[in-house]
Amino acid sequence: MIDIVCATANAHKVTEMETLLGGLVRLLPRPATLGEVHETSDTLEGNALLKARAVCAHTGRVALADDTGLEVSALSGRPGVQSARYAGVDADDAQNRAKLLAELGEATVRSARFRTVLALVHPDGREQLVEGVCEGEIATNQRGTTGFGYDSVFIPNDGNGETFAEMGADAKNAISHRARAISALRVLLSTP
Ligand code: IMP
Repeated sequence: MIDIVCATANAHKVTEMETLLGGLVRLLPRPATLGEVHETSDTLEGNALLKARAVCAHTGRVALADDTGLEVSALSGRPGVQSARYAGVDADDAQNRAKLLAELGEATVRSARFRTVLALVHPDGREQLVEGVCEGEIATNQRGTTGFGYDSVFIPNDGNGETFAEMGADAKNAISHRARAISALRVLLSTP
């Protein structure tokens, strides 16, 4: 069993990761003594590495960080790495979704994908990256009440036409970008 320090302070994400990595790792919480790490990279990989490096340097232990973006084809991959700040630095989820729907307007090509990158940084300097992708499209209006972020405007191709926010947590977690990234990490950690 490997001890890994999580760079996220989001308790929900930590629990989800621990469940999906079941028995393989023990996840330790982000130390409260570590200040905020600014996500200054222009890629998901870069930001995940920035966060994992900071936690590894601070703790001397293997560190795990994630970064997720929604990449919309008709917007040349935007909002991508800017997904959390799409409508402005202090924007909330509702403002980000409204901006996305307004920018896409009546566009007929609405394909998009969620991509999660996980970075693992080791005290000996080794750095490993895995990703998980969920392909889908952007709905023409918001639908559903569960979830968070862009869930009510994202229709995964592997579903039945419902948005993530309509299908509920269990169905979403079976096909989500984050679950797929964690599965890839599980494979990486199980490979000698
Ligand atoms: P983060 O990297 O997990 O902080 O996510 C970056 C942005 O993508 C935030 O605006 C989140 O709300 C959004 N996001 C991440 N994962 C999901 C998801 O599973 N559903 C909907 N939005 C998400």
